[in-house]
Amino acid sequence: MLTITKQEIELNAHVSSKEEAIRAVGAILVNAGYIDPAYIESMLGRETQANTFLGCGVAIPHGMPKDRGLIHKTGVAVLQVPSGVTWSGTDKATLVVGIAAQSDEHLQILANLTGVLGDPKLAARLSETGNVDDIIHTLMNGVPSDDTLIKPLIGEASHNVTIINSTGLHARPGTVIVRIAQKYESEIRIAFDSKIADAKSLASILSLGVPGNSTVRVFAAGSDQAEAITDLVAAIDAGLEEEDEAETTAHSAPKWESGEELSRITGVQASPGFVIAPVFQLRRTGSVALQTNTESVSEIARFNSALDNARAELREMQKTVTESIGKHEAAIFAAQEALLEDPELTDQTRLRIDQGDSAETAWARAIATKVAELSAIQNELIAARAADFQDIGQRVLRLLNPATDPLNSLPDYPIILLADDLMPSETARLDTAIVVGICTSGGGPRAHTAIIARSLDIPAVVAMGDALLNIANDSRCILDADAGCLYTTTTEDALLSAQKHERLVVAMKQTDYNTRFLPAYTSDGNGRVEILANIGKASDVDDALSSGAEGVGLLRTEFLFLERTVAPTENEQYDALVGMIRTLDGLPLIVRTLDIGGDKVVPYLDLPHEDNPFLGIRGIRLCLRHTDLFHTQLRAIYRASLVGPIKIMFPMIATIEEFLQAKELAEKVRIEVGAGQVDIGAMIETPAAAVTADMLATEVDFFSIGTNDLAQYTLAMDRMNPELAACIDPLAPSVLRLIDITVRAAKKAGKPVGVCGGIAGDPDAAVILMGLGVDELSMTRSSIPGVKAKIRATSMEQARRKAESALR
Ligand code: PEP
Ligand code: MG
Repeated sequence: MLTITKQEIELNAHVSSKEEAIRAVGAILVNAGYIDPAYIESMLGRETQANTFLGCGVAIPHGMPKDRGLIHKTGVAVLQVPSGVTWSGTDKATLVVGIAAQSDEHLQILANLTGVLGDPKLAARLSETGNVDDIIHTLMNGVPSDDTLIKPLIGEASHNVTIINSTGLHARPGTVIVRIAQKYESEIRIAFDSKIADAKSLASILSLGVPGNSTVRVFAAGSDQAEAITDLVAAIDAGLEEEDEAETTAHSAPKWESGEELSRITGVQASPGFVIAPVFQLRRTGSVALQTNTESVSEIARFNSALDNARAELREMQKTVTESIGKHEAAIFAAQEALLEDPELTDQTRLRIDQGDSAETAWARAIATKVAELSAIQNELIAARAADFQDIGQRVLRLLNPATDPLNSLPDYPIILLADDLMPSETARLDTAIVVGICTSGGGPRAHTAIIARSLDIPAVVAMGDALLNIANDSRCILDADAGCLYTTTTEDALLSAQKHERLVVAMKQTDYNTRFLPAYTSDGNGRVEILANIGKASDVDDALSSGAEGVGLLRTEFLFLERTVAPTENEQYDALVGMIRTLDGLPLIVRTLDIGGDKVVPYLDLPHEDNPFLGIRGIRLCLRHTDLFHTQLRAIYRASLVGPIKIMFPMIATIEEFLQAKELAEKVRIEVGAGQVDIGAMIETPAAAVTADMLATEVDFFSIGTNDLAQYTLAMDRMNPELAACIDPLAPSVLRLIDITVRAAKKAGKPVGVCGGIAGDPDAAVILMGLGVDELSMTRSSIPGVKAKIRATSMEQARRKAESALR
């Protein structure tokens, strides 16, 4: 416990104002080496926000939490002012107890001090005593507690609850308890550590000296006892309105509050950000006017030349998107180039031209037929292909007739672009100086358009519904993509506050980017989270490293199987892996074995149709049934392990048997290849794996939690269903509790645990995951600077508290 000495007490002081009293008690703290002199200003500042007068002549001036850095160590000083100094209104302070608290070491002194508040005679004696030992004795030993408090409550309603506030039950949270307790007729008590307090009296609550993270018992007796307990327990669980000031100033821009009721349209965030601008509706010309041709040979030549130009444009697009955004995002244009070669499409068009259609009409009809065919198939991936056909359709049409390009009509000043949906090539062609925000009535957060918007750093909200398309051009709107909404009306005040917020967001993004290579240590140095990247192929590694990644936490190897007509050979897979290992140059590479099935369809594998593919043969189940595919992949991985560090993880584990079977196959391949041991981990993506994590933990070298699937299976919400996009919340307590179970099991077995699902890239979620004890977070590269900065601005204790409350 903190001690108080004679040097920290000044008797018989004469001060003429509260400010003078605070400066005097502050000077004692400075001389004792507890604080920097600047902390005195913070103590004065606190007084403008909250009155620190407790009663019976006692005041406890202290600084603001954000200035805790000015405290060298926790200490208390007392200024005795026998004649009293006006504190507020008619309140006069005779004992001014200055507090410099780095943590909760001073709580016992505070508790003892509050004993004085219940004893006016003692208070009067201490304010006049000429013997410092009287004050020291009271502050160190307290006054006997009032046993009568417990009597009326024996046998009545009660409930245990943990005080999650790290600084314990000090004045501010205590005031919240009093405010709630006073609403009830019942007598309410709080018991802690053999002491009991009246919940309607702040002094009494403070006398408990409850430190952070300790459990108290709330008792109530009276007509509304049950309601009182429920209300108090809920408030305590929610942190007693303790807004940790250090936290609100910590890194992430606070959420913007409009301050008044503004009309808004909500959707799902596709790319974060905040921007104010006039809106502009992207109007497509709709169907092509049917035209005929007079000379089919020249019309076919015109069509062929448009195809050639489209091909050239797509190649150029791949090049510029690769340079400006990344190879992964550019791959869509390679795929579209292949679609341009589709003979069904081109032959159909030429045939129609021969039959008399103009090139535009023939091409538009061929595209429409193809899109209709594909759209009839209920499969998200195939539907995406339909969108690609539509996209190349628009491109060729634009080349045949430039007037059909909807982007031609964009104004020359910054706008928020509103559209039914955008095609990937449209998004990639956007001039980011003009289009500063995107809102679409349709679309989904996982579509390519969303990925490109994120990479271009354009705030975007999708799935907003048709009301979006009725907003008049040039209406000045506020796009809060972080909150997934567009404010369609505004006021002068709201606009001013939004402009301030916008500037803050821009400045913070730039700072995050500038510090992206710094490691993610917590602000108190008590923890570090490794920040890794999720990638799909070798060429992504460079981009990931230049965004600040400390390695690869998830290589989705199925990407090596997509956009092809046959499976990659062992050597092709080996070459890709070795390429990554070389670029990573010793940094970790976690290779997830094939996760085909579910949403990841590989047409040439000719897998049978399933009614419920997400509950069917996917991930490890597929590999255990198609051991040829698995064997080839494992050989490539083990051969690559001879070149540099690599780890293996198996996706979609639901039972221990699956994991053991896969591990046994891997071990056989390892021996066959002559490779050394490689760490083998399990992905925790099913509730089954999470609840048996203690059993799995003894078999694995590490866990990696795939929250995209874990949320889908826990909440029974299809991750591909756009209607559920806004509801499928990986931070739901149900999902977090499964993560908690997994982390605890991993810790007990001494195994590392990471998270590689989408929430790892959300800075607020990252803090919660860190608080739960996750060692590593793996995310898309664009999220890395923001997550690292957020962790560096958060203490381990804050993260634990966030996690604790998120679990509830
Ligand atoms: C996940 O499910 O969270 C995950 C990382 O795997 P994927 O998104 O590839 O299914
Ligand atoms: Mg998954």
